[in-house]
Amino acid sequence: MTEEAVRRLKDELTQKTPEKLRRSDMLVIYQKWCKACGICYELCPQGTLEADREGKVYIKFPETCTGCKICELHCPDFAILVTGNPRKAPKAEIKDKK
Ligand code: SF4
Ligand code: SF4
Repeated sequence: MTEEAVRRLKDELTQKTPEKLRRSDMLVIYQKWCKACGICYELCPQGTLEADREGKVYIKFPETCTGCKICELHCPDFAILVTGNPRKAPKAEIKDKK
């Protein structure tokens, strides 16, 4: 079992919410303003965002964010700010079929 797996297991067992990324080169999330409505992570076309155990949003895959602002524009609580310049979506990884 890797160190990361052990840490996750400990978090699961102790019901502790692990530290989640809420700031990247593209986004800032104001956690206190987030009401856990789910709009942003349902609408994000890149799958960048995810909910923590309380339903509050965090940045799961920061490298996938294109800065499209869909999340910022639809958040009813102004809890997300896109700070970076828009960029192209990363190319989808095509895995060889075996
Ligand atoms: S849309 Fe806003 S309030 Fe709703 S989960 Fe996302 S950040 Fe939180
Ligand atoms: S800016 Fe666009 S790609 Fe980035 S998290 Fe928001 S909705 Fe997703």
